[in-house]
Amino acid sequence: MAGWGLVGASNIARQYMIRAINAQPDAEVIGVVSSSPERGAAFASDQGLARHFDSLDAMLADPGIDCVYVSTTNEHHHDQTIAAARAGKHVLCEKPLALTLADAQEMVDACQQAGVVMATNHHLRNAGLHRRMRDLIAKGAVGDILAVRVFHAVFLPGFLQGWRIDSPAAGGGVVLDITVHDADTVRFVVGDDPAEVTAMTATHGMGKSGLADTVMGVMRMKRGALVQFHDAFTIKHMPTGFEVHGTEGSLVARNCMTQAPVGDLYLRRGSEEREIDDFDRDDLYTKSVRNFMAAVNGEGQPSATAEDGLWSLATALAVAESADSGRVVPVSIG
Ligand code: NDP
Repeated sequence: MAGWGLVGASNIARQYMIRAINAQPDAEVIGVVSSSPERGAAFASDQGLARHFDSLDAMLADPGIDCVYVSTTNEHHHDQTIAAARAGKHVLCEKPLALTLADAQEMVDACQQAGVVMATNHHLRNAGLHRRMRDLIAKGAVGDILAVRVFHAVFLPGFLQGWRIDSPAAGGGVVLDITVHDADTVRFVVGDDPAEVTAMTATHGMGKSGLADTVMGVMRMKRGALVQFHDAFTIKHMPTGFEVHGTEGSLVARNCMTQAPVGDLYLRRGSEEREIDDFDRDDLYTKSVRNFMAAVNGEGQPSATAEDGLWSLATALAVAESADSGRVVPVSIG
């Protein structure tokens, strides 16, 4: 049984990840560490966790902790992941991995040197709908891919309107919060990497301290497809969506850029439209931890590897740079 330590008394841990870890036959959440020992103690008590630790060092010194889940605000991921790796713990880290690509690369290097598994918690790869799209594309259902459109514009609920909208230091803003997920999902579904991006951002009443709450842009993939994306914290009245348009057909998904295992998928050819519904509706986060545990046990790969996290961060940083500079920015992980 692998013991897990939660680094950060976060919403995402409370809402999804404790359940996802404890759903595994070979994993169990042991405790939490918070920058506030009082909040950590209250979180442990509320969530029924056996332990709360007063410091990260204390958690990492505990031989009962084999894996850590890092879900603090983004500026802390770097130091906490490296400390965990040096203590020999496997790391499942939230996105974005860090605030700079150099920091993220240091995290990846530290985990490699320590011989521990590092993965990125990009949940959307675990959706049965996205996996079905990827399979259909790989089997040629849409032919050569010409274009992708991603609609990931949502309304940020009140309880998440904290550091995301007002703290540049914590890595707030729509690009590091949502565009990273688009970048990862596009790479996963179409099986290609972005080559360059162009984007514009805006602030429509939610973002503060110069943080954007809206972004629209275009990625050019290495094999030539263009990807249009719209991400926002401010859109109340539309479901999300993901479309892949090819020479032989179009895959059209709605309500799929979300944390729940929901969404509808259609394959269109000419005027014919066929619903595709033969995919699993398993919990996305449970599958993320299941695949992480397989990697820990030497039996597979995480859903999204550390390198996948480098790609999504590199893409988001290029989007932000393009919006700032007005230029087309190349994407690479070095
Ligand atoms: P929260 O705002 O809930 O928590 C972020 C951190 O802030 C916590 O780890 C905690 O750290 C600290 N904190 C929590 N409550 C308080 C408080 N009342 N006062 C002061 N500090 C507090 O963030 P989220 O759960 O929304 O996001 C955490 C991370 O997870 C981010 O990196 C985010 O990008 C990612 N995320 C990923 C998702 C996915 O689907 N993959 C979905 C949502 C978030 P500490 O306990 O150490 O003080």
